[in-house]
Amino acid sequence: MLHIGIDDTDSAKQGMCTTYIAVLAREKLEKLGIVREIRLVRLNPNIKYKTRGNASVAIAIETDKVREVKEAVINIVQDNAVFSDPNTNPGLVFFEGEPEVLRDFYFRALRDIVTIEEAETIAEAEGAEYVKYKLGRGIIGALAAIGADLEEHTFEAIAYRARGNWGKPRNLDEKSVFEMDALTFPLTFNNIDHSEGKVLITPHTPCPVLFGIRGFSDKVVRNAAEMIKVDEKVEKVQIFKTNQGTDAHLQKVESIAEVRPYSSIVVEGTVIKKPWIISGGHVFFEIEDRTGILRCAAFEPTKKFRDIILRLIEGDRVVAHGGVSKKTVLTVNLEKLYVKKLVKEREVNPTCLVCRKKMESSGRGQGYRCRKCGTKAQEKVMEPFERHIEEKLYSVPPIAMRHLSKPLVKFL
Ligand SMILES: [Zn+2]
Repeated sequence: MLHIGIDDTDSAKQGMCTTYIAVLAREKLEKLGIVREIRLVRLNPNIKYKTRGNASVAIAIETDKVREVKEAVINIVQDNAVFSDPNTNPGLVFFEGEPEVLRDFYFRALRDIVTIEEAETIAEAEGAEYVKYKLGRGIIGALAAIGADLEEHTFEAIAYRARGNWGKPRNLDEKSVFEMDALTFPLTFNNIDHSEGKVLITPHTPCPVLFGIRGFSDKVVRNAAEMIKVDEKVEKVQIFKTNQGTDAHLQKVESIAEVRPYSSIVVEGTVIKKPWIISGGHVFFEIEDRTGILRCAAFEPTKKFRDIILRLIEGDRVVAHGGVSKKTVLTVNLEKLYVKKLVKEREVNPTCLVCRKKMESSGRGQGYRCRKCGTKAQEKVMEPFERHIEEKLYSVPPIAMRHLSKPLVKFL
């Protein structure tokens, strides 16, 4: 089996899409062997070389025409990659070994920061052949896509536009998207953000993608794609096997002291003060454990998720899930929040059992006294109160979800 990895061929501003290059390659390669799999692999979402979602692709082909296959792929990349964008640094990898040897490298590219030099060292050690264009940063994603662990996976059906329509507005019948969603959810996910009333299947860049539908089976996403009504030609539809919607990027850490920037973590802690909101609508709070304090953020694009966050209070036990950035302090950009244990009672002045009225303090250390009948009490008492938040897993809405984030429906 020959594995081909391709990455960093597109440009957020000028268009193209590495997945489209994979489709062009697949069409050509079908004449040279049997294409077994096409994968779309998302890598560390906390590293922003580009504004788009850090996607790389890999193709597995059974062939005895290895030289012709390599030539064909190299030609397709050279003819289609956007070399004029300074942020586009294509890379290609060919590998005939067992992809498992690249698995550790995949996890590092998914959860950590790796350099081009490290990718070259691994490629050479494992006998993978690579081709770099410009800085050749794409060899990182290309190598990682080949090594990706897709034991847990989802599928995406991507529909592509005819070349003449690239860059023009996309005209999709939104009603057909709602109908498709009603018929296929929860086997498909993130088609629509119902709370914002927004269709999410179309990108907003000048790329060749018309729309993409994500789901848990290749058959379902293929059928779902056929339900979408468009008033332009769909040039091709390709199904990718992918690590999207699997939470593969998240790593559980045992304590706050272990949280590192640019990783994506799951960590437990206790809320230490009431969340606060800053101009721009970003909401923050802090959690602590015996090793340290960590800031958590629900940024403005997470919309109604912020309303939940604002209901947290000091003492609530939570498990934060998200990507870590380092601004002034380490901050987790929340993707999910598991509310593990809520504070459900608070200390209040005792109630007079005769008058059913709250007693008043008789002064510091003097206990409490009923104003009406004079009944006395020494201690404050615990009283349950309404929280308007539940002990369960909350997620940011689909509109703010990262490609890698597992949709809530998978937890039910
Ligand atoms: Zn009383």
